[in-house]
Amino acid sequence: MATQKATPQSQYTETDRLARLTGTATLASDDREHIPVEAPFTGDVLGSIPACTEADVGTAVERADEAQEEWAERPVSERCEIVLEYHDRVLDRQEELLDVLVAESGKARRHAFEEILDVPMTCQYYADNAPDYVATREREGALPGLTETVEHQHPVGVVGLISPWNYPLSLAVSDAIPALLAGNAVVLKPAEETPFTALLAIELFREAGLPEDVFQVVTGSGPELGTPLIDRADYIGFTGSTATGRIVAEQAGANLMKCSMELGGKNPAIVLDNADVERAAEGLIRGAFTNAGQLCISFERVYVHSDVHDAFLEEFVSRARNLRVAAADDYDVEMGSLMSADQLEKVSAHVDDAIAKGATVHTGGQARPDLGPYFYEPTVLTGVTEEMELAAEETFGPVVSIYEFDDEERAIERANDTDYGLNGSVWTEDSERGRAIAKRIEAGTVNVNEAYAAAWASLDAPMGGMKQSGIGRRHGKQGLRRYTEPQTVAEQRWLPMTAPPGVPMEWYAKGMTRAMGLLRRFPVLR
Ligand code: ADP
Repeated sequence: MATQKATPQSQYTETDRLARLTGTATLASDDREHIPVEAPFTGDVLGSIPACTEADVGTAVERADEAQEEWAERPVSERCEIVLEYHDRVLDRQEELLDVLVAESGKARRHAFEEILDVPMTCQYYADNAPDYVATREREGALPGLTETVEHQHPVGVVGLISPWNYPLSLAVSDAIPALLAGNAVVLKPAEETPFTALLAIELFREAGLPEDVFQVVTGSGPELGTPLIDRADYIGFTGSTATGRIVAEQAGANLMKCSMELGGKNPAIVLDNADVERAAEGLIRGAFTNAGQLCISFERVYVHSDVHDAFLEEFVSRARNLRVAAADDYDVEMGSLMSADQLEKVSAHVDDAIAKGATVHTGGQARPDLGPYFYEPTVLTGVTEEMELAAEETFGPVVSIYEFDDEERAIERANDTDYGLNGSVWTEDSERGRAIAKRIEAGTVNVNEAYAAAWASLDAPMGGMKQSGIGRRHGKQGLRRYTEPQTVAEQRWLPMTAPPGVPMEWYAKGMTRAMGLLRRFPVLR
């Protein structure tokens, strides 16, 4: 493993540059308390953000509400143009965005670039499809020829988004894009650990022509700002831990408001007897160690058929051991830092508990303070048993348990034996068998011969969690329609929806009974 020392951070460590960005936060002003933001590579303070208050959230939602009306009245094509202009700006200004992303998240630049790609892809997909998804449609009327029925899609109003620190750009912005295209305003509460990426992303949106109040950011504490945002917004979109998601969902439930949540995972991968071992190892290395495993769709459990187990383990461990882990902001770094002291503590505790209870460490298993305060080695374990904490709990770090199996049915059962259901992966040279097994994995997305990117980047298809991994879906038609209120308008013509004038009710009942019977038997009449 390489041991490169931290290089000086980008221009964004300059306090004045970050201070300018905090001006992008709603009601950012000097009389508010400030929350320090740390650079995970060094533990130094990178800058600070205003701790917005409950009243600030109220003002932001009020302004968003006022701006939303005019925004929704614009033709959808105009909204699409702004989103496509944003697409170009994100690509053009990617170096600046990457600098901020790497500085405040401590992730490897190659992993930060995945976020850069995600945003324009989302812009393009929804700009291509939003006009169709928000269009008013004719529907089959109750009585053919007599009832004219249409379905409208109204924006819900103000969408509140609460985003996490692990994907500060993607998870703050990509859920906002369909919301904006559907005619909503958005108030975003980014994670307090990674606010600067969100602030720069919003600045670029404004440069692309988005009216200021249509997309606002309130920075500060989740527990303090979450409740007022949930109470005032018309919809809440949350991405984060299952524990916090439960709190947010309870509050949304009490308000009877619509919400979607993408939460934790303990994602399983299955490597079948006929898998290409090298390909599986390469893919699952990315699947396990991207963003140092701090990815809700990453893999912490890998079930490997005994025919290929030893070869896979050898290849996987060798690749994990040779990953270039460093506190450097260049594309050659293959794994960066954990986010914080809390993350390091949790990952260390999980691994130490597993070791104490008899797990075998094939590589890793140690913190790397020589690289930076929160670095942890890519870690591969076998011999993990049920009584170990990490067997069922999400570690959210660079730690993978490998399990050997003989019986495929049993492997599927074990893969599904979890409260979570976010992502899955199957590796085989037989694509039909791979797809059949994939369908039986209880997860919202399953990738065959890929870890997570194939399903995630298939933006036309829904993405989200089964079981305790979430409510609702992002991406695809559902990813936009969750932000609309469908409305049915039906006009009745010529005859009422009851017995016509002068026809006794009993005759009407008999006539309708006869008609229903005929419609059931002669579909051509329907
Ligand atoms: P983690 O525990 O890994 O920091 P969380 O799920 O707690 O992840 O955080 C995700 C987002 O939820 C962050 O923006 C955070 O500020 C916010 N958050 C934390 N607690 C609450 C809460 N009680 N209500 C609403 N949002 C919250």
